Amino acid sequence: QQNRAEKDIEKIQSAFNFAAGLHEGQYRASEEPYILHPLEVACILADLQADTDTICAALLHDTLEDTETSPEAIKSRFGAAVLTLVNGVTKLSKFSFSSKEERQAENFRKMFLAMADDIRIIFLKLADRLHNMRTLNYMKPEKQKEIAKETIEIFVPLANRLGMGLVKTELEDLSLRYSNPEKYFEIAQLVAQAKAERDNTIRTIIEKIDNNLKAMNIEASITGRAKSYYSIFSKMHRKQMTYQDLYDITAVRVIVDNEKECYEVLGLIHSAFKPIPGRFKDYIAMPKNNLYRSLHTSVIGPRGKPLEVQIRTQE
Ligand code: MN
Repeated sequence: QQNRAEKDIEKIQSAFNFAAGLHEGQYRASEEPYILHPLEVACILADLQADTDTICAALLHDTLEDTETSPEAIKSRFGAAVLTLVNGVTKLSKFSFSSKEERQAENFRKMFLAMADDIRIIFLKLADRLHNMRTLNYMKPEKQKEIAKETIEIFVPLANRLGMGLVKTELEDLSLRYSNPEKYFEIAQLVAQAKAERDNTIRTIIEKIDNNLKAMNIEASITGRAKSYYSIFSKMHRKQMTYQDLYDITAVRVIVDNEKECYEVLGLIHSAFKPIPGRFKDYIAMPKNNLYRSLHTSVIGPRGKPLEVQIRTQE
């Protein structure tokens, strides 16, 4: 996978074989062989370009807790660094969210970060949680609600703080699905219905600014962005918006090659469409705490409907 060295691939292969042997005969609530869980966790981390020790630890992350193996066995096969990561995840999984003094989410997050002396342990724990959320439909409804609540209160803020935007969004949407299924499916349906209109809007925008982009020699990729279900849901709560208001919001993302072009595209969009006052945010000049950088603006788009625009570089 990717540019991993031969010896790293062998180490990962060997961690997989070792874990598969240990989990032999164990099954998930889905009735699938247990090893598929650590394998999926490892794949999530591989997609995030995690290093080889983290991938090995992902494959081994449930072996100390759920199988007969010993810390020494892991250390002698895969080294002290991998053992530290596996120990870290095991320690965090024993942490009980249910006790009273730990219930304060903010305290819990702080404790959690303090307990993980290596930030890779948090990445492992988040990938573990993400796969457990993806397979939550095999749990009982009360358990689903409990886990969804814990995810939104503890794991989403952690993913956000670490700048793991895609993981954060998927955890949010999955939490909503299990904590408030009616709202979730209602929003999902509206978003699906709005797709044709969204595609139309994108075409209109491209038509309006394409000539200028060419004249300025800017290579821009403009895509429609379906807002996440959770962001629609929370916007509805915060701003007392109706479904209809939200249905009308289209979001687009423009990707260009460098920062200078971000501002040039912003200028083009503001001259083609009327900006909505107070909605421009320059996260390039002033990055968010998690180092997120992008320009955000809202304008009155085609057919007089609000249009949210994000402009950023690939980086
Ligand atoms: Mn696990």
